[in-house]
Amino acid sequence: SPPPVDVTAQWPGGSVPPDRPLVGLESRDVSAWFGTHKVLERVSLRMRPGEVTALIGPSGCGKSTYLRILNRMHEMVRGASLAGEVLLDGQDIYRPDRQPAQVRRRIGMVFQKPNPFPAMSIYDNVASGLKLAGIKVANKDALVETSLRRAGLWNEVRSRLRAPGGALSGGQQQRLCIARSLAVSPDVLLMDEPCSALDPTSTRRVEDTIAELQGQVTIVIVTHNMQQAARVSQSCAFFLATHDTPGHIVEAGQTRGIFEDPQDSRTADYVHGRF
Ligand code: ADP
Ligand code: MG
Repeated sequence: SPPPVDVTAQWPGGSVPPDRPLVGLESRDVSAWFGTHKVLERVSLRMRPGEVTALIGPSGCGKSTYLRILNRMHEMVRGASLAGEVLLDGQDIYRPDRQPAQVRRRIGMVFQKPNPFPAMSIYDNVASGLKLAGIKVANKDALVETSLRRAGLWNEVRSRLRAPGGALSGGQQQRLCIARSLAVSPDVLLMDEPCSALDPTSTRRVEDTIAELQGQVTIVIVTHNMQQAARVSQSCAFFLATHDTPGHIVEAGQTRGIFEDPQDSRTADYVHGRF
């Protein structure tokens, strides 16, 4: 198991964001296979510290696979392999002496379908990652409160922290999952279509949360919703795969440029819904 980390030093008082440096993530020439089927081809991308980077592109172009590579979940898939490097704060997360669980503590993941522990209390859901990560906290109540505040859920649940996570609405459950990820103080939060299962109002709340987190944690979000990509991200990468080319980045850069002045006609077609 990973060495214990005391996050209380990073969270004085439990109510303010940690005053520690933001950390960037970078992939260099990442290729990926399922068996002999190559699904990603030399994907190089810099996800800048504290920014929200949106990954866009049609279904099947490898966005979810790429996200799983970024926190070492890809290697858990049977038959999966990869080449290339992923650097967190300049350090290769695939270095042989690094433990996958330790990498995943620093690089959290939120999925399309909210997956809190439904029978577990809201409070325990938020705290559940701490034990798994071997993190000791002097003031767990404060950390749970801070995490729920950062996820934009505190005011809705403060009076019923002992209610089961499954009693919340879908959108609240998704923000609970974000709070659970934040509790272990990650450097990066990966989100794979976090709003696809949510109604428009809940979607907006999650987008507000993402906007609040910008500047506090490095975020990478996969989305099919172009308005959402434009609203929440500062940088954007457009992925594409064709029948004879594995998923690759066609164009990446500042979100505004991708939407308003795309350099590739395929990017223009995609962001304008002509795909
Ligand atoms: P996206 O998230 O962009 O829709 P995915 O990363 O899910 O794309 O999928 C990329 C390609 O990899 C697709 O061709 C898909 O069928 C294939 N793929 C994804 N997961 C697996 C798996 N576990 N085993 C085999 N092939 C997979
Ligand atoms: Mg996907």
